Amino acid sequence: MSGVPPHEQNSHLLMALDNMRQGLTMFDASERLIFCNAQFLRMHELSPDQVQPGCTLREVLELRVRSATLFGDVDHIVERTRQRVASGKITRTLDEWVNGRVVAIEVAPIGDGAWVTTHDDITEHVEAVDQLRRTKNFLDTIIDHVPATIIVKDAASFRYVLVNKNGEEYLGHAKDQLIGRTADEIFPAAVAAKVAEQDRHALASPERLVYQSAPLHDPDSRILIQGRKCVVRSPGSAPEYLLSIIEDVTERTRTAERLSFQARHDALTGLPNRVQLTERIDDALSRLKRRGEHFTVMLLDLDRFKSVNDSLGHPIGDGLLNAVAQRLRASLPETDFVARLGGDEFAILQTFEGDQREAAVALSNRILDVFSATYDVGGHQVVTGTSIGIAFAPEHGTDVDQLMKGADLALYRAKSRGRNQFCVFEPAMETEAHSRHALEIDLRNALKHAEFEVHYQPVFDTVMETPCGAEALLRWRHPQKGLVSPAEFIPVAEETGLIIPVGEWVLRTACREATNWSSHMKVAVNVSPVQFRKGDLVDTVARALVDSNLPPERLELEITESVLLHNNEENLAIMSALKSLGVSIVLDDFGTGYSSLSYLKMFPFDKIKIDRSFVTELSERPDCAAIVCAIVNLARILNMVTTAEGIETREQLLLLRAAGCSFAQGYLLGRPVRGTELAFYTPTGGACDHAAA
Ligand code: C2E
Ligand code: MG
Ligand code: MG
Repeated sequence: MSGVPPHEQNSHLLMALDNMRQGLTMFDASERLIFCNAQFLRMHELSPDQVQPGCTLREVLELRVRSATLFGDVDHIVERTRQRVASGKITRTLDEWVNGRVVAIEVAPIGDGAWVTTHDDITEHVEAVDQLRRTKNFLDTIIDHVPATIIVKDAASFRYVLVNKNGEEYLGHAKDQLIGRTADEIFPAAVAAKVAEQDRHALASPERLVYQSAPLHDPDSRILIQGRKCVVRSPGSAPEYLLSIIEDVTERTRTAERLSFQARHDALTGLPNRVQLTERIDDALSRLKRRGEHFTVMLLDLDRFKSVNDSLGHPIGDGLLNAVAQRLRASLPETDFVARLGGDEFAILQTFEGDQREAAVALSNRILDVFSATYDVGGHQVVTGTSIGIAFAPEHGTDVDQLMKGADLALYRAKSRGRNQFCVFEPAMETEAHSRHALEIDLRNALKHAEFEVHYQPVFDTVMETPCGAEALLRWRHPQKGLVSPAEFIPVAEETGLIIPVGEWVLRTACREATNWSSHMKVAVNVSPVQFRKGDLVDTVARALVDSNLPPERLELEITESVLLHNNEENLAIMSALKSLGVSIVLDDFGTGYSSLSYLKMFPFDKIKIDRSFVTELSERPDCAAIVCAIVNLARILNMVTTAEGIETREQLLLLRAAGCSFAQGYLLGRPVRGTELAFYTPTGGACDHAAA
């Protein structure tokens, strides 16, 4: 300003002072105002007329009190100002005004008792600082509550910058011992070295996240951690901070392990399940490929498990499955693998030395043997056997599905052969299964499409050779295959449960047609064991009789021994109920089954049908003749009559007559025919007889 005239310099100076952000006053040693700037007047809502140079400090303060920018005792403020000026030092105080503004007031002595006061409105600044503090508190609280350890270090000095609550616990030191210090200054040398190594590794790594899994202090502890480190970089990409987040994953890992165990094990027996079996077979298949090691897959199904469950209840059923699992495990070498597939199905993966077939047969025999011993389950003596299906790798398949399917088909064969045995897969089983499946589909439609017929084979009095009734035999006229034998489709109908509606249809048809026969002619209907187990047999029979109007004494129900094999008490009750309807109960195919004689004691049958296998060999084998004689005599003692089935020659008929057999049935006397072709068919038969009676 050297070239500028003094009066202009003054006006520049005044302008500058007026434009200051702060309000400014200057007093002389006699406490009279020398100068105040425009901002001062604005801040205190004063006019230039009110505040003139020469006003005393007290006057100015009183004006401020009036304009409400000052509170308090003016005398006291005057006194304090004097002290501040006298101190010779710049002093600063904060005032909060009634209008909410915060003002920093600075008193600066300028020598000889004069001073300058500045009034700086710092409200926004104070608010911003306060907001910042609140934000920091908020973030600190959040970070402290994150259920993970958070540690931040300066990337250059490796000094701790931030540690949350979990971090204090993890590092074993309080925050104030950590912040600003390095690991070297806090931890034993070994731990510090490890920390330093991890930090250096994270800094050098090109990865964004670096993982660490061992706990810091105790690498052998049971606590599992998952640590992640990342480098926080400046906008110019220089490393600024090293952030570590460490989580305790013990619970999560244990849960995952537990779930994975549950997914791979059977909950009841603790044995591996199907998932593991599949994996093991896959492993065995790759060993087969690499090293040519053969192996065997076996599927096991408990015999009569359902009847244990049904008759003794599920807890005993579960107990039996556990006992079976134990026996199975104990009877296998360590190298063999056993799994439970669900229900009463188990599987074995057998590895072996020597001949594959021999090893499988030996193991199967051992299992059959071990299983045959009685089980003690909850105080109940339980007997069960098992059927076993066997498939060899690679002979019967080189993938899981082929082998499982092969073993399953072999198991099916073992069961249909009468259970408690093993069976090795044969390719023919597959074709059989296909045709069985096709048959099953056709069978489902047969009833709807009226493809069934009932034929009747007459039964004769052995001595008089006159007919006394007929046996109803089911026929299926398949649209493509022609007549299908019941031997072929009845087992399938039994397996699928279709025998229930089909059996009912036969019963109703036979009862209805029999009313067209002479009134002393009986009709015999075959009843499947499945109808006993699942059907409402007593009701069905009662309804068929009522609806057809056939007198109950003209109906015979033929059952086989297998009905007596399971659920004895229940089935015996059903048989008694049937008998009390007035119908006769006949034991069919006698002599083919198990311990036949004991069944004769169990239930008062009306009639026994001697199986065709005895009749066929009657003339050639004297022992057959002896057996037939014995059966006839036994029946007579037990008050039962006998029918011989399958008589094809006159010689057979004569021998049976001589043995005292009451009734005869066979191609010699009459083949199964339609009801209308029977000799005693009289469309008005029943009605005529009734009329005659
Ligand atoms: P089953 O009850 O023992 O019936 C006698 C079987 O022997 C009948 O075979 C009959 O045709 C046959 N047969 C009769 N006399 C002779 C003979 O002199 N020589 C020969 N070789 N065979 C003779 P079919 O009709 O094939 O029936 C076979 C089996 O199917 C029956 O044996 C029976 O167990 C079952 N079955 C037939 N119809 C039904 C039915 O409606 N329901 C049920 N559950 N089973 C039935
Ligand atoms: Mg029969
Ligand atoms: Mg028979």
